[in-house]
Amino acid sequence: MKVSIDEFQAYLADRYGGWANEQGLFMKLVEEIGEVAEVINKRAGNKPSDENDLQEQLGTELVDMMHYIVAIAAINNIDLTDIMIEKDKRASVKYHHEINLESFLSERKRDKV
Ligand SMILES: [Mg+2]
Repeated sequence: MKVSIDEFQAYLADRYGGWANEQGLFMKLVEEIGEVAEVINKRAGNKPSDENDLQEQLGTELVDMMHYIVAIAAINNIDLTDIMIEKDKRASVKYHHEINLESFLSERKRDKV
């Protein structure tokens, strides 16, 4: 099953809308960033680990980060997809990328037909 950012954002708006505040969600995000850092340190051997699947754990912690990033956008009615495309467009001009996200997605859709 695939989940789009729009769908994830709608789900989190439903979950957090009307009661959660961005300060609380941001503090949770910072906690999750620390958990990602811990896994990365373990993978690099900078921190002892008794866990055997650090790859799976990294995925889990990255999803935890995404959860709070998207939740903050959701409760503020920020359309992450629109901003992602527009910001990537500006960055691709600034950094002289050969292709931007919007063009990449259009080409993929064309290739699938
Ligand atoms: Mg976590």
